[in-house]
Amino acid sequence: MTDSSIIAAPSPLRSTVAWTAWPGLLAVCVAITAYGFKVDHPALFFNVAYALLAICLYTLERTMPHERGWNENDGQTFANIAHTLTSKGVVQSLVIFSAVIGLTVYITPVAQPGYGIWPRAWPMAAQVVLAVVVAEFGFYWAHRIAHEWPWLWRFHAVHHSVTRLWIVNTGRFHFVDSFKSILIGMAIMLALGAPMEVLTWLSAVTAFIGMLTHCNVDMRFGPLSWWFNTPELHRWHHSKDLREGNKNYSENIMLWDHLFGTYYNTRDYRPPADIGINEPMPPGFLQQLAWPFKKRA
Ligand SMILES: [Zn+2]
Repeated sequence: MTDSSIIAAPSPLRSTVAWTAWPGLLAVCVAITAYGFKVDHPALFFNVAYALLAICLYTLERTMPHERGWNENDGQTFANIAHTLTSKGVVQSLVIFSAVIGLTVYITPVAQPGYGIWPRAWPMAAQVVLAVVVAEFGFYWAHRIAHEWPWLWRFHAVHHSVTRLWIVNTGRFHFVDSFKSILIGMAIMLALGAPMEVLTWLSAVTAFIGMLTHCNVDMRFGPLSWWFNTPELHRWHHSKDLREGNKNYSENIMLWDHLFGTYYNTRDYRPPADIGINEPMPPGFLQQLAWPFKKRA
């Protein structure tokens, strides 16, 4: 008998954590955010929930990783954080700039109550569910064209160039890629006249699921992976083999992947540990920012 044939059964505690971590952490984060809305401090409580999620996932990545090798330093931590901050900074600056020049009066229906066909009379929970479903159509296509249109892929390749998945590369997007996704996803919501509370909820849920999706934690999902974008599905999306990689474009729920035939999952074999892109990406943050603009031979 070789060593590799001896596989210890997971302990009951580890097994319980593996099955409950994804839905449990998401539920706790949603509950904290809901409390934030109740006491009129949604941003503060969202940040508390996001920080708590990061601490829990970081601890789980160290104690029960999905791929042990992904816990090793790849030299990209600074670039990951720099891309995250740049993306957020650029998007927020554009929102502030449009507010300063008065553009939001025309593009933000929040400023025009009664605008659009959004069902504002529905209970908030139902509006948030509707928002997740409707916005996903935009998120899905924003992501899919980033893979299928070569000039957009150059920007999205910055996200896919990592050789390991963990919570710190959740926000690693070239700012052009980030801006395009938010613009397309949110444009639908703005056109329908969704109120600010719904948009805030949508952003919060997307942020929680996004960090969970990238975590390197050994979790089990069962039927949840049919409905939601779980780490299990997103690991296929980061495969170098495009038969697996050009799949699972959804951000939060898998509805549009099912409808457009791009859903992929199998438990017959593990997703690849060797992930990344099939072209070279410079290691430095500034070179990565410039890389998509460079002419190809
Ligand atoms: Zn992608």
